[in-house]
Amino acid sequence: MSQEPDAYIDDSRELRDDDTFCFSCGPEKSCFTSCCYDINLVLMPYDILRLKNRLGMSSDDFLKRYTSVHVGPGTGLPVVLLKMEGPYMKCPFLDEKKGCGVYEDRPAACRTYPLARIAHRSRDMDGVEEFYYVVREPDCMGFKDGREMTVRQWKEQEGLGRYNEMNDIFGELLQAKTESGIAQLHADQIETFYLGCYNVDEFRKFYLESPNLDRYMDPEDVVQRISEDEEELLIHGMRWVKKKIFSGCTMCAMAQK
Ligand code: SF4
Ligand code: SF4
Repeated sequence: MSQEPDAYIDDSRELRDDDTFCFSCGPEKSCFTSCCYDINLVLMPYDILRLKNRLGMSSDDFLKRYTSVHVGPGTGLPVVLLKMEGPYMKCPFLDEKKGCGVYEDRPAACRTYPLARIAHRSRDMDGVEEFYYVVREPDCMGFKDGREMTVRQWKEQEGLGRYNEMNDIFGELLQAKTESGIAQLHADQIETFYLGCYNVDEFRKFYLESPNLDRYMDPEDVVQRISEDEEELLIHGMRWVKKKIFSGCTMCAMAQK
């Protein structure tokens, strides 16, 4: 969405599954596609997997062609941003006449808008608690004559289920980082994080196709599963990063040096 200074998250109301809000978006809106320019679109691990498959590319080629990487000043973690194109900073996947060119595989952020998802997992709770805020962008006409719907309906309509599940697994990793008390990662750890979370095809080569002590310690059925299912491989990659960097295991930490 555009970065106008008066855009804001309306945190006066926490919306849960059965709560309603009013919104509609489509080619009939005068603002159609305007939100696909000049945005900081952060890609999550699952976004990258879906997009690189959509485009028939390896994750390595996708990352080189379409993204830039920054180390978050607050978190010290690598953040992957979609590179915008041209003088108007257009999303590379936008077809100006037809709209989103990767619609079925668009990133979670594009699906979730105009909501912002807040997810929280506490130690004594099974699963993740979530709620949503409405995000109000000044140029967005979606609130004008919007259709009333529940959050649950919005999530179904936008195909958010699997995206949220995968982002919650990534969230486990971010939470582990916070709990570890590690402020900054060194260069090797940043590389490990990037490999396990973002570059799934290179992770496959590293983990499954080359001699790897960690794989030898995995049960056979796990190795079988991650060899056959790319989403399982990505989940394994994120959990491997968590163990390698944030488990507090001295041996793992030494192996990273
Ligand atoms: S209604 Fe909002 S979300 Fe839809 S195209 Fe317009 S600016 Fe984008
Ligand atoms: S991925 Fe699609 S919906 Fe998201 S910014 Fe690009 S064109 Fe717009």
